Amino acid sequence: SAITLLGPAEIRALAQRAGIRPTKTLGQNFVLDGGTVRKIVRQAGVTAGERVVEVGPGLGSLTLGLLEAGADVVAVEIDPVLARLLPGTVAAHVPGLTLDTDTDTDVGTDAAGAPDAPAPVVVLRDGDGRARLTIVTQDALTVTELPGPAPTALVANLPYNVSVPVLLTFLERFDSLERGLVMVQAEVADRLVAPPGSRTYGVPSAKVAWYAAARRTATVGRAVFWPAPHVDSALVRLDRREPPAATVSRQEVFAVVDAAFAQRRKMLRSALAGVAGSSAAAEVAVRAAGLDPQVRGEQVDVVGFARIAEALHAARP
Ligand code: SAM
Repeated sequence: SAITLLGPAEIRALAQRAGIRPTKTLGQNFVLDGGTVRKIVRQAGVTAGERVVEVGPGLGSLTLGLLEAGADVVAVEIDPVLARLLPGTVAAHVPGLTLDTDTDTDVGTDAAGAPDAPAPVVVLRDGDGRARLTIVTQDALTVTELPGPAPTALVANLPYNVSVPVLLTFLERFDSLERGLVMVQAEVADRLVAPPGSRTYGVPSAKVAWYAAARRTATVGRAVFWPAPHVDSALVRLDRREPPAATVSRQEVFAVVDAAFAQRRKMLRSALAGVAGSSAAAEVAVRAAGLDPQVRGEQVDVVGFARIAEALHAARP
C-alpha cells in the first residue's frame, strides 16, 4: 500500500518542529518501530473497514498502522498540541485524505467531566467521503459518547498512569467493543491477566475478567519508544464475553471485589462485613455462593464474586 509508518528520524523531526517535549505525567512514549506497530495491529485482529477506537494517538505511530490495515479510526487524545499535529502527519502518510472540521459533534462528558461545551472533532475523509480518521481532543476518561459508527475494537498504546481506568471505562461505556489489544507496562499486563491465587491477582484482574477474557501476547522492550520508558511493556489481548452474573448489577459485583481486596490478608467473612452489614451476613452470602468463608479474596474468581453479590442482593430486604 502507499501508506508509510513513522520511523525514528521522522518522530524526532516532528517533535522538534512542533516543539514537543514528551511529558511523563501524560505517559508520552512514542513508538518508533514499525514492526511493533504492525504486531499490535495484527494481534488486534483488525479487519479492513472495521471501526477502531484508539486512546492516545500521540504522534500517530499506531494510528497509521491501523489505517494501513484498512480500519477507520476514532482517536481520543488529551494533549491539544498532539491532536492538532495529527491530521497533517496522517495526511502526509495516507494519500487521498482531506480535512473536515465538525465542531458541532457532541461527544458528551460524564457527570464529573469538565467542559460542557462539545469537544472539537476533526475528521479526515477519503475520496468517497468515508471518515477514515476522527480525532477527539479530550481526556478519554470523560468521553461518554464517540462520534460516528460504534467501534468494535479498542487498540491503544495506553498512557501508563491511567491505563487500567481507561481500559475499564471503555469496556464499560462502549458495549460495541468486542476486542481489545492494548500495550501497557509489563507489570500491569501481569495484573490484568492474573488468575486467582497468583501473586499478581487483584482488583484489575477481577474487574477486567467481568468484561473480557484477557491474555498477555507479547513483551515489548523499552528501545522501541522515544523517550525510552524505565520499564518494559507488554501486549494484552481482550475478548469480550458475557458478564458472569445476570441478576445483579456490575456495580454490586465491583463493590464486593473492592471490599474483598481492600483488606487483602483478611478472610472473606471479615473483609465483606462492611458490604454485607455484618460478618455473620457476609459468611451466609459466601456460603450461599458455594465458597468457604475462610478463603481470602485473592483466591476467588469473578464468577465467585458475582455469586457472592447475588447472595447479598437476594438477602437484602
Ligand atoms: N499511540 C502513540 C504511540 O504509540 O506512539 C502514543 C502513545 S503514548 C504511550 C500515550 C498517549 O496518550 C500520549 O499521546 C498522551 O498524550 C495520551 N494521553 C495521556 N493521557 C490521556 C487521557 N487521559 N486521554 C487521552 N489521551 C491521553
